Amino acid sequence: MGYGSLLLDDGEDKNLTIQQRQYLQRMFHAGEEMLEIINDILDLEQLRSGNINNKLVRLESVVAEIVERYQPDAEAKSQRLNTESTPELPAVSGDQLLLVQALSNLTENAIKYTPDGGCINLRLLRQNSSIRVEVQDTGFGISESAQARLFEEFYRVRTRDTANISGTGLGLSLAKSIIEAHGGRIGVKSKEGEGSTFYFSLPISRNGEA
Ligand code: ADP
Repeated sequence: MGYGSLLLDDGEDKNLTIQQRQYLQRMFHAGEEMLEIINDILDLEQLRSGNINNKLVRLESVVAEIVERYQPDAEAKSQRLNTESTPELPAVSGDQLLLVQALSNLTENAIKYTPDGGCINLRLLRQNSSIRVEVQDTGFGISESAQARLFEEFYRVRTRDTANISGTGLGLSLAKSIIEAHGGRIGVKSKEGEGSTFYFSLPISRNGEA
């Protein structure tokens, strides 16, 4: 992939024909997809081994990291990426990198499965002794029968709207494993054609009050 990207970077000086460049792009894209699958499987296995960090994590900083990371992708699709948060939320306990990964899978999906010009809201709220994180989109939505299977490994919904969108079918099962490894719960509310809200809740840490 490294050599592939070198060739693609400034292909014009490399005397590649248009067709050679297309072949190279396809090879590079297939390589990226394989890498994505391998990384997801490795992450799932690492979680199953039960090794997670337990530090105080402020979910506001997780959300801020996600917004910074995904703003360019949302802008490229003319989507608005908004955040709403209750002030001074207490911290949760866990592994910041893993929680960023779980929220990043939900946010990436929201952008991917929402048409251009849509809107994505990241919301943080307190609910008794837990904090709830919501990712709401104005996208294609998911039928009730598919919702029941969404969090299974390799499951992907096939509809006319989403047929050309690529993915591994592992993102949601990874997010579920991460949230459950933190003692939390994950779920979805959605209506076909009207968008989806994926949410998870995590218990507030005993030493986590702001
Ligand atoms: P993928 O790599 O296919 O995106 P995921 O496990 O992340 O895998 O998601 C599983 C399936 O759930 C997707 O293929 C897609 O059909 C559906 N899905 C996930 N998030 C959304 C969303 N925000 N809106 C509509 N469909 C979604």
